[in-house]
Amino acid sequence: MLTPSLADPLTPLSSPPDWDELQKFQGTITHDQFLHLLNDVYAVGGAAQKWITVEANCAEIQTSGKNRFKLKFAKVAGRPISKYWHDPKTLPPNNDQPLAGVTIALDPGHLGGSWAKMEERWFQIGNAEPVTEGDLTLKTAKSLAPRLQELGANVVFVHSKPGPVTSLRPEDLRSEARASLKSRDVHPILQTYKGPADLEKEHSITWEAERLFYRVAEIHERARRVNHTLKPDLTICLHFNAEPWGDPVNPTLTDIDHLHLIVNGAYAESELTYADVRYQMLRKLLSQSFDEELGIAESVAHSLSETTKLLAYHYKGDNAHPVGTSGYVWVRNLLANRLYHCPVAYVECYVMNSREFFDRFQAGEYEGLREFNGVMHKNIYAEYADGVAQGLADYFRAARGGGKAEVTSDW
Ligand SMILES: [Zn+2]
Repeated sequence: MLTPSLADPLTPLSSPPDWDELQKFQGTITHDQFLHLLNDVYAVGGAAQKWITVEANCAEIQTSGKNRFKLKFAKVAGRPISKYWHDPKTLPPNNDQPLAGVTIALDPGHLGGSWAKMEERWFQIGNAEPVTEGDLTLKTAKSLAPRLQELGANVVFVHSKPGPVTSLRPEDLRSEARASLKSRDVHPILQTYKGPADLEKEHSITWEAERLFYRVAEIHERARRVNHTLKPDLTICLHFNAEPWGDPVNPTLTDIDHLHLIVNGAYAESELTYADVRYQMLRKLLSQSFDEELGIAESVAHSLSETTKLLAYHYKGDNAHPVGTSGYVWVRNLLANRLYHCPVAYVECYVMNSREFFDRFQAGEYEGLREFNGVMHKNIYAEYADGVAQGLADYFRAARGGGKAEVTSDW
């Protein structure tokens, strides 16, 4: 594993980027497109100005050390880009099977199963069934797959059973964990921690090695699958949100419940100091997938908000920035939506520790409709899957030039 050097820092478990990979984007984006994507999507508020200078005909990008990469702009828009996914606008109209010829990768978030406690995606109220996000996302993905297949999609799974896809384990990552704590000026560095409620846990090598395992190594391996094996036209990352629940032994339920979707963007200046992050941001920007990602996210937000009746979540900090017109879609830089090269729709639906969700979770995968708080609902997995499938069908039907989709008309 590589240890970041001070001159050219890298995020944990990352390799130095191959900047030559960006050569294929020479002359593919116009000055105005580049500036718009940089300022309005990826580096809002001038976050990249230390490293990227935009001239009339080119952008100069600081790569490694003092080296610079010169990206020449296209004179006209629409130059083809070499990529492994297909633009839906190039597919023939198909109103019955709007996802025909489209490969969709489902990426159920987190590990679930016996790993849910370690990844802090686990809580239990009394003797009720524990809530584990990684198992909820898997059930949702399995409910979503046949719906997408019915619409014509070729569905592939980034991970399909509880547990990690990475072969690394926390005990393999202790030296990387120590280096990561050191780079964040943690002092003193502790060997281990006493349990989930230990206030000092984040200063321990054990906790950091676990985090590097279930978050970083796992997403890196999923990204390898997406970009090198599955090569889908679109990846859907499925997640359930949570409000802080306090002590997992005595968790708190809330009345707050919400929905939002995330598209890659809003990189912070502090994140762009890492060469790998800077490279991945440029890759994402130059692939020009933002318009498609936003269109898909808006369409899914529209249908999911109708099926779930959930209100939009609002970020309070500056790590996310609102985009589009629905009020449900935000740009935010996450490891998965940064490393997956193809368009990514990242869905955060329901608050797992809301009172209503908790009751609906305990009701399980029932058939038909049941009443919760005076509203009739399908079970959570079917409702989530219906909303995503409908949003994708609407988007692809419209993008392929078929029947008019009911998108954005009534916002
Ligand atoms: Zn999640």
